[in-house]
Amino acid sequence: MVSPVYKSNGAGNGNLAVRQRILVIEDERDIANLIRLHLRDLEYAVTIASDGNAGLREAINKTWDLIILDLRLPGTDGLEICRRVRQNSQTVPVLMLTSKSSELDRILGLELGADDYVTKPFSVLELTARVKAILRRARLTVDEPARLQRKVRVGELTINPATRNATVRDRPVELTAKEFDLLFHFARNPGRVFRRAELLDSVWGYGHAGYEHTVNSHINRLRAKIEDDPAHPERIVTVWGVGYKMRSPAAGHPGS
Ligand code: CA
Repeated sequence: MVSPVYKSNGAGNGNLAVRQRILVIEDERDIANLIRLHLRDLEYAVTIASDGNAGLREAINKTWDLIILDLRLPGTDGLEICRRVRQNSQTVPVLMLTSKSSELDRILGLELGADDYVTKPFSVLELTARVKAILRRARLTVDEPARLQRKVRVGELTINPATRNATVRDRPVELTAKEFDLLFHFARNPGRVFRRAELLDSVWGYGHAGYEHTVNSHINRLRAKIEDDPAHPERIVTVWGVGYKMRSPAAGHPGS
């Protein structure tokens, strides 16, 4: 066994408190235990809630780095928990577990703000890869050098990666973790056109080939929040047959 290595916060002593905390809300005991076993191997601190009511209480009363949430639960169901978590915190990442791919469209269509999803039955390898990717992205803003944490301004849009806040004309915009990552990605590269597959790679990060419609639904949600008229977007524009780009005000070529 390799002895656990805890990330030090610079004080010199390894500190258990910096272990990332994951809440697993899953009523199927075997699945919950399997997830816990593998995530503990990766040095995450894992808590299991085995019904929806307990899960909701844990989710909103404590601080988590990630919530893994089964869709079908006794008591409060996964959709309702996700909704309540998002009312409570815009930033905690939520990874949904779904039983059927038909439920996937429901999740994506409902604008719940889940950050990622895994369809059952899933391989543990796939799940842990997703978990690592989500937590790595969430931590990027903490670990990145100051240069990369600077505020980015594009026209009337300001994005602050250090606080993960965004404003349009100084008006704060409430974004989910994924919407923020997507917006920040565009804002760092104004004028550059991204294909959907590229956005999946850069923002979602792992094995999402074939889920290009996920990009579309997130772009639509983002537009509803940052555009004056989401039906006629001025900030994140569609480049027909290619993908999307953030319009660069300096280049100022309307109607590309
Ligand atoms: Ca279940």
